This record gives sequence, structure tokens and C-alpha cells, in this order.
Amino acid sequence: MDDLIIIRDLIKYFPLQKGFLDRLFAKEKGFVRAVDNVSFTIKKGEVLGLVGESGCGKTTTGRLILRLLEPTSGDILYNEKSVFSFTKKEMEKMREKMQIVFQDPYASLSPRMSIGKAIEHPLVIHNSHDKAERKEICLRIMEKVGLEPAEFLYKKYPHQLSGGQRQRVVIARALVTNPEFVVADEPIAMADVSVRALILELMAQLKEEFDLTYLYITHDLATCKYICDRVAIMYLGKIVEMGSLEEVFKNPIHPYTATLLEAVPVPDPKYRRTEPIPKGEIPSPINPPPGCSFHPRCHYAVSTCSQEEPDLKELRQEHWVACPIRS
Ligand code: SF4
Repeated sequence: MDDLIIIRDLIKYFPLQKGFLDRLFAKEKGFVRAVDNVSFTIKKGEVLGLVGESGCGKTTTGRLILRLLEPTSGDILYNEKSVFSFTKKEMEKMREKMQIVFQDPYASLSPRMSIGKAIEHPLVIHNSHDKAERKEICLRIMEKVGLEPAEFLYKKYPHQLSGGQRQRVVIARALVTNPEFVVADEPIAMADVSVRALILELMAQLKEEFDLTYLYITHDLATCKYICDRVAIMYLGKIVEMGSLEEVFKNPIHPYTATLLEAVPVPDPKYRRTEPIPKGEIPSPINPPPGCSFHPRCHYAVSTCSQEEPDLKELRQEHWVACPIRS
């Protein structure tokens, strides 16, 4: 498979918002290191899961790829071309081909816009098709995502739909421009447990039908096994482990990955954890620990862990880990 997206040394630091006096007397500028030197690729037609706790930088990474944010440094190639070298026209084309499904469908839909108008809106922005064609495309996509009867729901407003239906609206809106790449940012986090599996099943089905490539962002590693081909685990702005879904699930090497896997509920009352719970709280990305940023919480840490920052190294074919101690 060819690479659709290549991320090289991507960094995004957000300057700290300080008060006037703090700004006046502060010796150094503070930064939130949201994404801290991340490199990976997404192949055409694959689903890459980007997994980690809240605040680890996974959503920022997704938004950087779509150029909803500008990076501090680094490069993003889309179809082998840097997105930062795109002309205005190429950028508009890219916006059609790269879409996003937001976490909270209620917040990402205007309460004053009917479902049909919301789904058609990207076509209006891109000035493609006339009014009648737009409606026809909209109804067709509504049927594809299971919003039926489409004609009836077309005129409804977000508050008149269930949570699962609203999530389907957001998916339909992302697909209406016929994209090839979709960032799905926690697409099931706000859905009831009963509809989560249905949404993931729908996404997998649409991927086949529309030949899509997904970046699936989630804090729940367990859900990756329903949809992902590969997974990348993020901790404090860095990727600490990456590999095929099977390899990472069977042979997790980084202690943080092992912890996330242990957090997946097992329907067996006799099951006991084998991996210890990480110590303490996740440190601040404003002032991350030196060396391996996981060392204050890691049960396997040795003295060098607080001094040397581990590189992400390929240990087996397509299995990358940033932990020299457990490798
Ligand atoms: Fe733990 Fe050290 Fe490995 Fe970091 S490098 S995960 S602190 S053992």
C-alpha cells in the first residue's frame, strides 16, 4: 500500500496565556508541548488508530494534518506533496478530500440548521452542484449512513434526533464531498454504549464502500480492534509504540501500552491484572519530565530513564517502541 499521509518531525507548542504582569516579568515564555516531534505514515485504505489519554496530543495531531492548526515545525505530506506548499486552489481541493468527524455531534451541528442543510453545507462551501443535485446527493448519503426515511429526516433539526442519529449526520456531512481521508476524532465517545458498535460497524462499511482512509482518534484502545489495521500509542505529545493491531495487542512492549490494554474490561470475574497501575497522575505537558516522559509513573524505570529520551525504534517488522529497557 502507498502512503497517503506522511508526518515528519511534527511539533506543535501552544504559547501559555499569561496575565499582563506575568508577561512583563517572566524570564521565559512557557509552552504547552501538545505534539512533540511525531513522525508516522498513514497508508492508502488503512485505518490507523491514534490512542492515548486526554491531553496527550492526539486531537491536535489530527487537526494539524487537516491544517486546521499550523504546526510549530515539521512537515505533512499528502499524496507526496507538502500541504504547506499548496496553492489556494490546491488547498480548497484538499479540504474536499480530507474531512473530519467531531467528537460531539450536538456541538458540531448548528441548532438553527436542518439536518439536510447541515449535510449539504460542505457542497455549498465548495460551490459544487446546483440546489436540486445537492439535495439528491444529500438524500443518497443519508440513506447510506442509515438516516431513514431520508426525506422525512431532511427537514428535522438536531434536537429532534437521537444521539446515534446525530452522529450519523456528522458522518454523512463528512462524506458528502466524497473524501479520501477522514479524521474520526473520538466518533463514539458521546454515543450510548448500545450504539457504539453500530457506529463503528457503519464506519467500517463506509470505508469499504467509499474506499476511505481513516485516522481513528480514541482514548479507548479496546475499540481499535473493531476497526483499525494499525495503532499508534501517544503519551505526552509523543508516540511511544506503534504497530499492526495484532502485534501491539499480542505483544505490547511499552509499559504504557500494556497498562492501556490491562484497562480493557475482561468478562471473567477470576481474571486478575498482571500489569501494575502507573504511579501518580499524568504530568503537565507544560513542563514534561526529562528523559522518558513516562518515567515518574513507570514501574520498570531505571536511573537512565530520567536522563535519556528514548527513540522510537523498530524492534520487529513494523513494530516500533520507545523503551530501551523493555525492548
Ligand atoms: Fe519505563 Fe524507562 Fe521504558 Fe520509559 S524507558 S517506559 S521509564 S522502562
